[in-house]
Amino acid sequence: MSGTQTTGFSQLPSIDHLLNSVAASEMLREFGRDEVKRAARQTLSNLRDAIKRGESVATGSAAICVDMRRVIEEDARRGIRRVFNLSGTILHTNLGRAVLPEDSVDAVLEVLRDNSSLEFDLASGTRGERDDYIEDLLCRLTGAEAATVVNNNAAALMLLLNTLALEREVPVSRGELVEIGGSFRIPDIIARSGCRLIEVGSTNRTHLRDYANAMGPRTAMVLKVHQSNYVIQGFTAAVDARELAQLCRESDVPLAVDLGSGALLNLEDYGLPHEPTPMEVLARGADLVTFSGDKMLGGPQAGVIVGRRDLIEQMNANPMKRVLRCDKMTITALTALLRMYTHPQQLAERLPLLRVMTRSQNDIRAQASPLVARLARKLAGFAMVSPVDCVSEIGSGALPDHGIPSAGIALRPLPSPRSHDASLERLARAFRELPIPVVGRIHKGDFVLDCRCLEGDGEFSAQLDELEIDP
Ligand SMILES: *Cc1c(COP(=O)(O)O)cnc(C)c1O
Repeated sequence: MSGTQTTGFSQLPSIDHLLNSVAASEMLREFGRDEVKRAARQTLSNLRDAIKRGESVATGSAAICVDMRRVIEEDARRGIRRVFNLSGTILHTNLGRAVLPEDSVDAVLEVLRDNSSLEFDLASGTRGERDDYIEDLLCRLTGAEAATVVNNNAAALMLLLNTLALEREVPVSRGELVEIGGSFRIPDIIARSGCRLIEVGSTNRTHLRDYANAMGPRTAMVLKVHQSNYVIQGFTAAVDARELAQLCRESDVPLAVDLGSGALLNLEDYGLPHEPTPMEVLARGADLVTFSGDKMLGGPQAGVIVGRRDLIEQMNANPMKRVLRCDKMTITALTALLRMYTHPQQLAERLPLLRVMTRSQNDIRAQASPLVARLARKLAGFAMVSPVDCVSEIGSGALPDHGIPSAGIALRPLPSPRSHDASLERLARAFRELPIPVVGRIHKGDFVLDCRCLEGDGEFSAQLDELEIDP
């Protein structure tokens, strides 16, 4: 066996030899000694594995240094990178959810590059509160008495539960014990907040009397959860917030509603189905409402709580608020976003989420068409490329049963010795390996690029020449 090997371990240079080689000197300057050494160690280990497999390998320092550079560059690409989201899911949790408006991005860059008045009141020259202005804006926009913000909606729920229901009972309908994905489950959050979940009703039907029966001296609050990412159909019943609020008032416990998505706009004005707003839920008598910053609000990851001043004050006084508070990037991005909502007439143009949600199918078809021709030329012999009408979804639990007609490009691998699935995966991988990775989705035997979220396709189309599919 060893007699057939063309290379032996002993022919590989040592790490020191590699680091002292002429070929490494440029890399040492660029990346530093530790990083180059790490790359040398990994590259040599890869080469030893290749030799064990009986492959013949180049053992010269110059050739090995080329591999080392590749190791370093691959490592540098492992962090979060910008991608083109052509998956058809607008608020894709794995792809960073909402795309921030320019106002937010500009404001964040400005406060990051310098010091800022994060907790400093410039009028009096004394300490200020980081959430003050955001609270003002949220109250103006939702009509709530008070508001506070934390890291995400999961944190908002935890703060709310831990403040108002520690070691006490919280009735929740069995139809609302949702799992949102990414390890968020209502029962687990309630338990970890130090509260006792009291399950109420059945999976498909919960009545007011179920809540009434669950109320007792240990009840701290009632929680109603927006079902978000699923719908219950058929023989169903849920209790409206208004009735539940009445019952809670009689029992003198607060009603909190976790909306999840929480749009601040009436989506029907934009031709979309209705999504409940915090304003409506407060008007029905809820004492507190929580929602995410990066779902239908279209901003940064954050959790917003609006509602009764006395309850919000208790939350702000809880040390957990300090643990869960937002950093200056979030505060700044959210402030700029909420300021945009004060001028709603401009939102359809300035808020990326609303812009892409309201794009017409014709507009998207027109954008996809020249891209189809380019990709067809590029992928000739490997895949058939055609325009396709498809359906985008909003994602992140908003309007789960409502698709938005969209358009894009379908790529279907031509028959080959490889399996169809393997060819599809190769296509998908080739797009992920572009300088700005492109994420599509596999649907009924096609690799589909939904162009709804492709705003301005200059950079997208400029990189298509680099698409590489090995035959
Ligand atoms: C998405 C969602 C959450 C979690 O919100 P994050 O901001 O992702 O932490 C909680 N509750 C509901 C109903 C949701 O839809």
